[in-house]
Amino acid sequence: MKHFIIIGPPGAGKGTQAKLIVEKHNLRHISTGDLLRAEIKADTKLGRKIKAIIDDGNLVPDEMVLKMIKSVITKNPHVSGFIFDGFPRTTIQASDFDSHLKSLGMDVNGVISIIISDDIVKDRIHHRAMIEDRKDDMNDEIIQNRIATYHAKTEPLIDYYKNQGKYHEIDGNGTIEEIFTTISTLIERLSK
Ligand code: ADP
Repeated sequence: MKHFIIIGPPGAGKGTQAKLIVEKHNLRHISTGDLLRAEIKADTKLGRKIKAIIDDGNLVPDEMVLKMIKSVITKNPHVSGFIFDGFPRTTIQASDFDSHLKSLGMDVNGVISIIISDDIVKDRIHHRAMIEDRKDDMNDEIIQNRIATYHAKTEPLIDYYKNQGKYHEIDGNGTIEEIFTTISTLIERLSK
């Protein structure tokens, strides 16, 4: 079973690319943002707690996300692989995930990092705010908090995966199709 991770700042295009990748490479898409938003939509007690955190642009607790991820993996024993979008977002999530995969005799196959400037990220999120109804996309202060959180909490994953020889950078400034072609070629190479 293959495990690919796509990381990048909010608005970098992770979700867009992940959806294209699953179609072509027969992988299952796991977006922690989508899983969390589904919990919010269900309007459970947990969902309401999560909503308050996400609306402020903060990260939900590691244990919560890890539990969700492990449950999806357990429920899909027959898929050929996964593409994780929005996970891991902290080094704690990454190292716990590594231990979990190891206990199942598996491994992360590759990490694809979309590189894009903070200014372009802000433009893209403003654009997305007009299309999708996401409260966390509508307020500049919250967007800024998410970008700062990315630099502080998620960027350390770059070194974490570089040390494992699994890190691959992609320029996020091209068109959707250009970026997809680059990622596809990379996934094919890493799948061999
Ligand atoms: P974006 O990448 O544009 O920020 P996501 O849909 O990936 O959008 O995430 C939306 C929000 O969900 C994040 O700002 C964060 O609050 C929460 N979230 C998503 N994934 C994680 C994660 N792995 N750990 C903690 N919080 C997460």
